[in-house]
Amino acid sequence: MLKKRYLLILLILIIISVYAFVSINQMANPDKTTLNDNSAVTREIIANNSAEDLGTVEVIKNIGNPNAKKIAYVVGVHPLENDTHKTLLKLLPTVADLNYCYDIYVINVTEDFSGYGELLPDDSPGRETGQNLALKYVYPQIVNGRYELAVDIHAHGGAYGDYNTFVFSPVDGSVGESYGRNVSQSTENISYYNPYFTTSGPYLTIPLNEHGVPAFYFEENSFISQDIKDKHMLELIHAVDNLKFD
Ligand SMILES: [Zn+2]
Repeated sequence: MLKKRYLLILLILIIISVYAFVSINQMANPDKTTLNDNSAVTREIIANNSAEDLGTVEVIKNIGNPNAKKIAYVVGVHPLENDTHKTLLKLLPTVADLNYCYDIYVINVTEDFSGYGELLPDDSPGRETGQNLALKYVYPQIVNGRYELAVDIHAHGGAYGDYNTFVFSPVDGSVGESYGRNVSQSTENISYYNPYFTTSGPYLTIPLNEHGVPAFYFEENSFISQDIKDKHMLELIHAVDNLKFD
């Protein structure tokens, strides 16, 4: 009788041990199927808030397929438009089986900016700071970085009539334009629309197009719901990932 009881206790102990082992193992190896293989992803600070810069620039490198051709995304040129920047940063690392290797250049302006819906009287100091950081730190790395394409992520307050979600290259006839048109044609909700006015073009997308790296803007209306912003951003991510490069 006593022996039987010992056996029962032993059995219970074994079950508890196995359960604990499995639990600990699961905690150590969270389910990776929702993320792409991000073992190659690195982060690098390329500008660190010096007195003259008023901001930082960080690069998140090797998202997607680290052995494939490289594409750059840029967020934060206009700090006011940070809702779309956060949307890209949230979604791109979650997309599985990307064809290309992605680096995201993240500009963080530390002073004088606001966000849509919480507008400061004047957001222009932050705008200028972001543009200056783009030209000084992001442009040289992208133009020398063997990228097939650069996509500059922005948002707007609804100033473009029927056009809420669109891509465009500020340089007509550029390769950047043809990639932008291709993305528009292969997506349901992204138009190709060149407003022929940008403040930031001369700081990034114009010199990139003129010096061998095709580049286009992505613009999203800040006042649509986050669900729709997510949907449009995923359309962009997939369309860019399906572009063909020579
Ligand atoms: Zn902008």
